[in-house]
Amino acid sequence: MSELPGIVVTGASGRMGQMLIKTVQESGKARLVGAVDRPGSDWIGREIGGVTVTDDPLEAFAKAQAVIDFTTPDATVKFAALAAQARCTHVIGTTGLEEAHLQKIAAAARHAVIVRAGNMSLGVNLLLGLTRKVAEALDADWDIEIVEAHHRHKVDAPSGTALMLGEAAAAGRGVALKDVRDSGRDGITGARTRGDIGFSAIRGGDVVGEHDVIFAGEGERIVIRHLATDRTIFARGALKAAIWGQTAKPGEYDMLDVLGL
Ligand code: NAD
Repeated sequence: MSELPGIVVTGASGRMGQMLIKTVQESGKARLVGAVDRPGSDWIGREIGGVTVTDDPLEAFAKAQAVIDFTTPDATVKFAALAAQARCTHVIGTTGLEEAHLQKIAAAARHAVIVRAGNMSLGVNLLLGLTRKVAEALDADWDIEIVEAHHRHKVDAPSGTALMLGEAAAAGRGVALKDVRDSGRDGITGARTRGDIGFSAIRGGDVVGEHDVIFAGEGERIVIRHLATDRTIFARGALKAAIWGQTAKPGEYDMLDVLGL
């Protein structure tokens, strides 16, 4: 058992934190060696998964080989420096990071392995790689459309994942997404512009997240689809990244690196 990588989960009380603790424990591929939450949280001192939740990250990281972190941008930047100090792999799922945060994370990645992805699902990351490859192989006679569906509470559109897919398609075509993005069609829009990448959003019910990338040609169509039905996909992806990080050199990576895409 002792050769399995020891994992610390930060944000232990959060939706993702709780799921990560369960996923690590049930995986048989890693050991949970610590759980961290913010100072003042009523989870501090609580027993979970055989460990006691602490607000002292450095003490927890010193016992670990990897930290899985789905918290807030400010906390994540602090954890990046501490994980580098402890030479732990740092898996970052936190979103909303700005340039100043990213610079500090890049500095920490000089000393330790950091894997960061706005979507840790293995399937979505595979979809990103496939989208880029298909866009590279086909010319602009094939219209690219990205259709996504989410639950009725979602406040933004297109989804962050749809935009990542758009970036991947644009990169495959060798263009910048901002120059070809077409979202929010309504009314007399005129005919489709050759080379544009179109976005459509469906909102309703409890849909966790669905993404189609459509390559529409003359007389044929390719559709690559990802359907998310459960948030555990993000936790499983993060654990895979933490294990992958044990054999990587210091640096900043994403899930495409983890999947070898
Ligand atoms: P949440 O609000 O349920 O949990 C956040 C947790 O962070 C809480 O437990 C909070 O106490 C903790 N926290 C805040 N500051 C802290 C600090 N200084 N030290 C220690 N812990 C601290 O949120 P959530 O739904 O679990 O999401 C967390 C993050 O993960 C968000 O940025 C979300 O967008 C992102 N997310 C990413 C993916 C992905 O695949 N990359 C998937 C789902 C969610």
